[in-house]
Amino acid sequence: MGKKEISTLFSSDPDKYYRVSLFDRLGFKRNKCISCEKFFWSLIDKNICPDHEAYNFIGNPPTNKRLDYIGAWKEIEKYFQSNGHSIVRRYPVVCRWREDLYFTIASIVDFQRIMNNKVIFELPSNPLVVPQMCLRFNDVENVGVSGRHYTSFCMIGQTCNADAPGGYWKDHCIDLDFGLLTNVLGIKPEEITFVEDIWMGAGAFGSSLEYFVRGLELGNAVFTEFEGDENNYRIMKNKIIDMGAGLERLSWITMGTPTSYDCSFGSVIKYLENFIEVQKDKNFLSTYFKLVSSKFNNIEDDSSDKIKKLKKTISQEMRIPFEHLEKIVSPYEAIYTIADHTRTLLFAISDGSLPSNVGGGYNLRILLRRVLSIIERFKWNIKIEDLIDTHVEYLKNMYPELEENKQEVYTILKIESDRYASTRQRMNDIASTIRKNNKQLTVDDLIRLYESDGITPDFLKEINVITDIPSNFYVKLSELHNINQKSLYSPSIEGLDGLPPTKLLYYEDSSIREFYAQIIKIKENYVILDQTSFYPRGGGQEPDKGNIGDVKVLEVIKQGDIVLHRVENLSSLSEGLRIKCRLDEGRRDSITKHHTATHILNSSSRNALGSWVWQNSAFKDVNYGRLDITHHSALNKEEVERIEKTANEIVMKNLDVNIKEYERGESEQKFSFRIYQGGVVPSNKVRIVKISEFDIEACGGTHVNRTGELGLIKILKSERIQDGVVRLEFVAGQAAINYIKNQDKNISFITQSLGSSKEKLTDSFKKYLDESEKLKTKIKILLRKTSPILAESVSTNSKQISSNGVKLFTTYDGELDEEFHITIGEKSISLDPFLIYISLISKGEGEGIRVIVFVGETARKYGFNAGKIAKVFSISLGGSGGGDSKFGQGGGRFKNGIEEVLNSSERYVSETLKR
Ligand SMILES: [Zn+2]
Ligand SMILES: [Zn+2]
Repeated sequence: MGKKEISTLFSSDPDKYYRVSLFDRLGFKRNKCISCEKFFWSLIDKNICPDHEAYNFIGNPPTNKRLDYIGAWKEIEKYFQSNGHSIVRRYPVVCRWREDLYFTIASIVDFQRIMNNKVIFELPSNPLVVPQMCLRFNDVENVGVSGRHYTSFCMIGQTCNADAPGGYWKDHCIDLDFGLLTNVLGIKPEEITFVEDIWMGAGAFGSSLEYFVRGLELGNAVFTEFEGDENNYRIMKNKIIDMGAGLERLSWITMGTPTSYDCSFGSVIKYLENFIEVQKDKNFLSTYFKLVSSKFNNIEDDSSDKIKKLKKTISQEMRIPFEHLEKIVSPYEAIYTIADHTRTLLFAISDGSLPSNVGGGYNLRILLRRVLSIIERFKWNIKIEDLIDTHVEYLKNMYPELEENKQEVYTILKIESDRYASTRQRMNDIASTIRKNNKQLTVDDLIRLYESDGITPDFLKEINVITDIPSNFYVKLSELHNINQKSLYSPSIEGLDGLPPTKLLYYEDSSIREFYAQIIKIKENYVILDQTSFYPRGGGQEPDKGNIGDVKVLEVIKQGDIVLHRVENLSSLSEGLRIKCRLDEGRRDSITKHHTATHILNSSSRNALGSWVWQNSAFKDVNYGRLDITHHSALNKEEVERIEKTANEIVMKNLDVNIKEYERGESEQKFSFRIYQGGVVPSNKVRIVKISEFDIEACGGTHVNRTGELGLIKILKSERIQDGVVRLEFVAGQAAINYIKNQDKNISFITQSLGSSKEKLTDSFKKYLDESEKLKTKIKILLRKTSPILAESVSTNSKQISSNGVKLFTTYDGELDEEFHITIGEKSISLDPFLIYISLISKGEGEGIRVIVFVGETARKYGFNAGKIAKVFSISLGGSGGGDSKFGQGGGRFKNGIEEVLNSSERYVSETLKR
């Protein structure tokens, strides 16, 4: 059964699925739309559903109150609070608790957790209301244009578990929402229409009632009632109400402004309007945007210039030439877009996301580049920082937390803006090539330009390479990036059904290194024990090794509740056997220390660099650990030192490492989503590892008891491994001591070689460098003084190769360098103009062969050419070369070819002459 079948099923029994007590009490009647056949409920007789209605509230709002964005929220908050709802603070817009989402796309996502590929609901209180900022990037091209599309919007989530204490179901939900519209906003009941619909999600579905006023959808109450697949479903044990209403729209309906943007950004729009040279009166804008937003729903056109077509229709209706109309409205569209995009960036960066080319970060980068391009196109003197400030100033009344990270948001936007500015020259070059070739760019061309060179279509429009941005550009680009989205984990070894869960001794007492256990199953080379202290591979922590009986354990993995030990052989092992097991102590100890060090470094990095630092991934092995953090640039030496210093301060403070299990909801509320550094925890119990108040993470790994046990944390290197991710490699505990010892050994070797002592090492080394410089100078002088004699012997030892007196000298040298041969070669041909000087130089293992050729003046007159000879020789040595007639050079890597080249050099040279 698909969406259509469920829809038919529900509408065939409206009394069961849609009729709520309010409809009977007030006399709402059920109608069928003559245009789209949808069913809807209203007090007055109508034959078309609200989908086809014009936005007649623009310029003429149906309410007795005027509520701006924050004002509307305050009223809604008060209303639901007085009706027994808890008000929950918004969740981050970066969705750290769902592996399948980068951003929070709806209020209900706050309360969804995924376990065993199933969505479960966890509500922190019941019932509740949350003003959830949501980010969506599938309508980017409509933002600023349609009057109501956003990349970030506030979804008022009225959520409740119908079957838990405090819960309610359809009747009460619709009563409350009706009350909100009529009593709080002052909308007349006749103005309200409820449209029947259905909702289908992952493994659950239900009916829904959307409510509209004058063509504008204000909210959608979803009643998630059934679970199972489409053919086999049952009523859920805990039915969920998920009513979502856009705050932007609730404010808009009371204000009746030309667009919903005009009432949703506080003074940001006013600030931006100042930059528009020719401002238009509100009546004109109201007329225009009313037409746009009313018609927007019904575009059935999928072509890339659908927005343009729509505007052309409107220009005819308004009797204004299209170009003229475009000139008036485009600066307004621009300021609305800027307002939306900067607000999105503010929330996303505040909540720890970074613009980049990977994952969700790409959405943020493209938004910022759009903003910068638009500002550039209109030549407005707008400071992004001022905009962010104006946003925060307004929004802090609702989201006070935005003030905390304001400075960080500035920093990131500054870095990204500078980065964009520095690539503009290259972008300009590419663009002018496109213009020269006069090529029509397809959507795919544009996508390629963005992916490979970061060129946005807005930029191309700005410099007039294209006239319009295809309306499907952002959708297509977004699809491309969604393919790379993280996928859910799935297990691999089969046939474990029915086995009891393995008792995890490493959680009960992490100090156990020896234990007895019973072998309950052997599957291929995997041994399953009733209990184990072997830590399985997971969360970036390498597995324990050791012995089961006298058999070596090579690998340990966990699948579901069961730990599997892969052993070297099964010779002495059999099912049912009770056996002594032993861990490799040193290994466990070292890996454990690297794990705790990862946590310490993660928070040290955040303290040293900024709030955007999150663990991207981590790896903890015996000899070293690796931590990848999210950061915008490569680290400099000072930053690495700062991180290391903080980390070692924590080690020296010998802080307590406390491990405790919490209910998931409790831990999220108590410690915030910062706990999910290592990713999502797929169970309702969360193990919290707390290093005093310094670092708090949800983690299933092994840890030391006190930070002092680490002894020392030493960062070995830092590297920017991809856009937005920096890798730190480090050692701690014994591995750090080994590292220091090794360094010491190296120093000792150097000291001895220099005949110095450790105390005087730097002085001795400086002296050594000086001497080496002096030696080089001496050699140069020596070479200059002896070169005439050497050159003479070259001439004497050369061989005549043609009747006109041209001579050839060849040599292979494994000891001296190019400088020597260049000096001697040049000297030789000046002494003997008939001479051709060829030298092959190779300086031992791994180095290639260099070819140096000089041709004397007379030999040149006979047609011999140094560059050509160098080229031919180099090619036959597997490389390349060239030069002018007097001096040629090149090289290759086929050392086996040296002898042959030398032996046949005469023939080579003669052939070169013939050519
Ligand atoms: Zn309809
Ligand atoms: Zn951890």
